[in-house]
Amino acid sequence: MQSTHFERAIFISWYCSKRDCAFCYLSSKKCIAPDPAKDRRTKESILAEAIICKACGWEIEFISGGCDSYNNDELLSLLKCIKRIYGKKLWLNVGILNEKQLKLFRPYIEGVCGTVECITPKLRDRLCPSKPLNEIEDMFKLCDKLKLKKAITIILGLGETLNDFKLLKKFIKKNHISQITFYRLKPQKGTIFENKKPMETDYYVKWVEKTRNAFPKLKIVVGSWLTHLSEIHLLLNAGADAITKFPSIKLFNTKYAKKIEEEAKKANRKFIGTLTKLPKIKTNKLNKKTKLILTNYLKRMSSKLQ
Ligand code: SF4
Repeated sequence: MQSTHFERAIFISWYCSKRDCAFCYLSSKKCIAPDPAKDRRTKESILAEAIICKACGWEIEFISGGCDSYNNDELLSLLKCIKRIYGKKLWLNVGILNEKQLKLFRPYIEGVCGTVECITPKLRDRLCPSKPLNEIEDMFKLCDKLKLKKAITIILGLGETLNDFKLLKKFIKKNHISQITFYRLKPQKGTIFENKKPMETDYYVKWVEKTRNAFPKLKIVVGSWLTHLSEIHLLLNAGADAITKFPSIKLFNTKYAKKIEEEAKKANRKFIGTLTKLPKIKTNKLNKKTKLILTNYLKRMSSKLQ
């Protein structure tokens, strides 16, 4: 029996030096004095989340933060701590990294993620004006040199069409991508997509199907949303390997979490890990602050138990 699992992206900050991607909630917020040192989570809350990921059997999809949100030393120290907890090398998704940074982080990372988001040329230029595709490709060339793996993210529902699949196929081939995450657009208030009608499941499934057919070995991760969880079995049947983009701590063991596990079953997949059974975690070796935050997370997760 084929398996599937949940992957959680660990967000480390809500600072971003770009703030102009048309679909991003950051672009809708006026921020008078953005500060990378303040607009971030505490180290302890990030580590507590990593501990929960490990205990629940959730893969860490990537360590994710806005561009220029951490300096090299801070990020290196964080990666070391998360890797120690997780027990495996991590994926990093923090914008464009240069060769010096990639070399610095390499002992702790398996690869990096390029946020392609949209592959349709002119549309992409409008939606992501400050993150040109050639910068991502240049970073990927460095990854090849340093033997790091490459992943990309794609948001569907931004105005692309299925005809654009050929562009995605070309990009994946050219850049030797080993992992792709598809998201369905979640319209953010205050952005140009605020009132956009959600894309049809059938359309989403076709993108996954085409990708799987073109790339039998590519790892495909799919993100849905609470309103569309019943599409997950169809996305798995179309060839997706794993599921992401679910607030798995906030909605642990709720009807939504149960639905995801049911969807895996419906697709005849064994669900590795759990979104519904509270894990037992030893906290005696943790420092006071991490222990407190972890206990609060676990309390939040157990309050939903029925
Ligand atoms: S780079 Fe990422 S975090 Fe920054 S504005 Fe664009 S989508 Fe948002």
